[in-house]
Amino acid sequence: IQRIAVLTSGGDAPGMNAALRAVVLAGEHYGLEVFAFKHGYQGLLDNDHIRLCGADVLHILQYSGTIIKSARCKRFVDADAAELAAKNLDALDIDALIIIGGDGSFRGAEHLAQFWNGQIIGVPGTIDNDLYGTDATIGYATAVAIAMDALDKIRDTADAMDRVFIVEVMGRNAGFIGLSSAMAAGSERMILPELQNDKPLTVAALVKHIERVQKIRGDGSYVMVLSEHQWPGGAVALAEQLEAEYHLPCRPCLLGHIQRGGPPAPADRILASELGVHAVELALDGQTRVMAGIKNHAPVAVPLADTWQKKNPLNKNLLRIQHEIFNPVKKNGNGQ
Ligand code: ADP
Repeated sequence: IQRIAVLTSGGDAPGMNAALRAVVLAGEHYGLEVFAFKHGYQGLLDNDHIRLCGADVLHILQYSGTIIKSARCKRFVDADAAELAAKNLDALDIDALIIIGGDGSFRGAEHLAQFWNGQIIGVPGTIDNDLYGTDATIGYATAVAIAMDALDKIRDTADAMDRVFIVEVMGRNAGFIGLSSAMAAGSERMILPELQNDKPLTVAALVKHIERVQKIRGDGSYVMVLSEHQWPGGAVALAEQLEAEYHLPCRPCLLGHIQRGGPPAPADRILASELGVHAVELALDGQTRVMAGIKNHAPVAVPLADTWQKKNPLNKNLLRIQHEIFNPVKKNGNGQ
């Protein structure tokens, strides 16, 4: 192969720039020409592309966001859109396309594969860590670090005022950011999709837990981590419900897109660097419709469809420790 193209698609993730840099540097190393399409799949449709050399990606790995821009592109689900993308890729003589994004972007990649004969390689770029086949996704470590930092700050004021807080974190439909940040910051309660699917929490049970934890510990501060989409109306609605129905003062805090910015964590820069090179090497190896992943420290190739059809489970032991040992939701043998 001689020419490869790269794009970043869907929700941006810290480390996407580092992955892009790695793709370009590896491409140069192997004597390939590297093109980038801007604004994700939209750029494929608009034929909005640039040639990238090593000099173009200097000093970008320390920044979140993506210098080639990301976007959502509703139109891409249509067959004629994928046909147009295939035409534009062929006109430029692209042999392999590297897609840095999340599960939506990989669905788009499989859709494109129905209409285009070139090789397609995915690179997992999402803060949610919700892709099967890789130990971590690019951006996840940074999002957890940001959420932990916010939880630490909330703890200071919660502690001073003996207050209950609900901190809403991202994660799409997975509890990775929620569980990891809750554990890293020692929060009292988690409302995660995996727990909610198992046994949905009622407000009454939550109030019981708050009161029990406060009584046992002799401390009023109670910091709860709520994964997005896990409560109707989110953290604000739950806080209002606690106040209105149980006269329990509670403050909501929505982290939102703060979780995607600032300097990428070392783990994300390193993961992105390894995966970017791995993706180029998979392309050179003739592979297609696979995601470049890292499993137990070894580079792996995961069929793209597996990445969203199979499930990446939460670490059961961490979940048990955080949920049943540190802040037991059931009364334990000591009558607590
Ligand atoms: P992420 O990659 O972060 O999960 P999205 O779910 O927003 O982000 O998906 C990114 C883009 O991928 C969408 O805007 C759309 O262009 C494309 N895409 C998602 N699902 C499909 C699909 N089933 N068929 C074709 N394209 C899709």
